[in-house]
Amino acid sequence: MSTSVQEPEQFTFRAEITQLLHLLAHSLYQSREIALRELISNASDALDKMRFVALTNEAYRDAAEGLKITLEGRDDSRDLVVRDNGIGMTHDELVENLGTIARSGSLEFLKSLGEARDKADLSLIGQFGVGFYSSFMLADHVTVRTRSYRDDHGWEWRSDGTGRFEIRPIDKQDRGTEVILHLKEDVKDLTKDYRLKGVVRTYSRFIPHPITIGEEVV
Ligand code: ADP
Ligand code: MG
Repeated sequence: MSTSVQEPEQFTFRAEITQLLHLLAHSLYQSREIALRELISNASDALDKMRFVALTNEAYRDAAEGLKITLEGRDDSRDLVVRDNGIGMTHDELVENLGTIARSGSLEFLKSLGEARDKADLSLIGQFGVGFYSSFMLADHVTVRTRSYRDDHGWEWRSDGTGRFEIRPIDKQDRGTEVILHLKEDVKDLTKDYRLKGVVRTYSRFIPHPITIGEEVV
């Protein structure tokens, strides 16, 4: 199919997700780096799922090799990329997983924060099954580029976290997912390798897949 001419499809986040995103976007007094932990954890899950498919389905046997996570900071554009060559997402998985499926976790998480939400500790977000949204603590725009192992082209999801997201087909050569955080001004030093290494060492020490930053596997 042609991937260049179509208008993006527009979607509205579920109401409780919009509420959660608003809170996350305005959370300044937090260890916002935990968002990277969540994205790395999602990448690791996607690699596990790909490995499982490879081990149980002859047709995908080769996909068990070379599974990895890459972090890439781009100084000039203030982008931080979390990339995996895991299972990827189809169009419908993207729409459901990142915005429209009912997830009790978002409401439970909001409830767990109690009255003083502004000052509450948000680091437990991952345990409520909505860790992806923590991206908006660090980013003013998030782009997800993904290609499922079952698809012959990719899909791009974009949002600024204020209620809506859009999806369009893209050319993507390789299987897997890239989450691109357009970093807020005050966290832009997260494009630096030394900062990324620090975050990985602090929050993602026990990830059972290689994590590459620059030339180095950390
Ligand atoms: P959880 O990881 O607890 O399910 P998240 O909010 O972190 O919740 O992620 C929501 C869902 O989005 C995941 O369950 C998964 O289906 C999908 N997802 C997120 N990141 C990726 C990724 N890198 N590759 C494939 N699927 C992903
Ligand atoms: Mg997660």
